[in-house]
Amino acid sequence: MVKKFRESYEVSLVSFKIHPGYIKGKTSGDKPATRLTQCATIIYFAFAMQDKTNDTLTVAGIKFHVIRKGNSDRRYVWLHGDEPTAREVLVQHMETHPGQALYIESAERNVRIAGGWLNPNRMFSREGAEKNLRKLNPSWGKKQLDAALDRLDRDLGALFQTLLPPTGGLLVALHNNWEDFNVHSEIPISNRVALSDPDHPRDFYICTSDADFAQLSCSPYNVVLQEGNSVADDGSLSPLAGRRNIRYVNIEAELGAFDKQKAMLGWLEEALP
Ligand SMILES: [Zn+2]
Repeated sequence: MVKKFRESYEVSLVSFKIHPGYIKGKTSGDKPATRLTQCATIIYFAFAMQDKTNDTLTVAGIKFHVIRKGNSDRRYVWLHGDEPTAREVLVQHMETHPGQALYIESAERNVRIAGGWLNPNRMFSREGAEKNLRKLNPSWGKKQLDAALDRLDRDLGALFQTLLPPTGGLLVALHNNWEDFNVHSEIPISNRVALSDPDHPRDFYICTSDADFAQLSCSPYNVVLQEGNSVADDGSLSPLAGRRNIRYVNIEAELGAFDKQKAMLGWLEEALP
């Protein structure tokens, strides 16, 4: 760790073309405040660079890109390849925040599995995945279906290990939506609702913890609470989080609403423990 830090620190010094003596304040000619700011900037970048790893995780042939950065119990996930705004928001967020982020490697909504198709946000339970595989692959027989489900069962443990936060940690998913989906679609299956931004019903949080709802309902954005087993298990992340008692927030925003979704993630990051 120390060696790694020293290396990245020295790389930073070289890339900034600054002699170490300058850091110690031995070089004259600059105001101390300026020196201090530049020194702090260099150290910040050195810390930001350290411990960042890139990895790949494959689940039943479905590939994910994993970024691990610093020490944090925050977990982030981007699941739908046809929702690029959410991806951009998360990529930018991870440049300045610690945590672990999982990005699906796909430019399409559904992904290939065992020669067929699967919505990756239906893979988190066998029952939900089965329903989705039947729907998207109507020509499949029982043998093909069972083979795909068995592959998922084998690999889901590794996915959960990377995706799910430690006890008390927070899992954040980012999604984009089109005209057919908004907060009103979720109200009938929600325990509590706060509509602070009624003119933009497509931008909203879905959370699973009462305490997080209390915080998020103070935001200028819409939020619904879906606790425990109140949502039917369709294989998506939200019922999984409910079943396992995991603090989970889905940030839904209109496709293309980069600034709005970024602000919603920023608000959450500041407000939630
Ligand atoms: Zn989505």
